[in-house]
Amino acid sequence: MRRVPALGTLILCLCLLAVSGCAAKSASSSMTASHFTTDSISNIAHFAKESFGPLPTLSGAAIDEAIKRFAIHVPKSVARPEIDHDLSDRGRTSWDLFGRSVAVKLGPIAFTSWGLLGATLAHELEIHCQQNLMAISFKDALGIDAKNSAEKEAYAHELSNADRFGLSPEEIQRIRETLSAIEALDNNP
Ligand SMILES: [Zn+2]
Repeated sequence: MRRVPALGTLILCLCLLAVSGCAAKSASSSMTASHFTTDSISNIAHFAKESFGPLPTLSGAAIDEAIKRFAIHVPKSVARPEIDHDLSDRGRTSWDLFGRSVAVKLGPIAFTSWGLLGATLAHELEIHCQQNLMAISFKDALGIDAKNSAEKEAYAHELSNADRFGLSPEEIQRIRETLSAIEALDNNP
């Protein structure tokens, strides 16, 4: 069952940069809805590693297993991530107007490999859930783009933990490309 964010929910998401690589440019910048667009890494599904055994199933059990395997830090204020079958992105973190994290959702593409599932969980739970979304939203409302910085931090975290998650060279390369695309936005806002 999809969880419908309450009115005024702020959304921080790991998602789409995907094919165009520039979707973040058109992200909403209102005070009541803000989101990031990033990379679904859908084109590297066939490189999925099996170093941890069978690929993760699209299930809450796989989420629990990934959190355990990779010792993902889950903030006390955050419930267990849920699957959103309609989410085309790897993940999304939603926040309320007070900057509290209220939900983390994972899209099917996050389950491409154990490594990618771990990296996505870390991206959302260890970085976005720790960021000050209120500050980001205020800056965004003032026309000061803080979203790219937030995403850069999250992707850098994925890359610096590549060994921890057992990311494949192809996965690492794709994440690097996504990070570079976000950095390029800084130079061409
Ligand atoms: Zn993100």
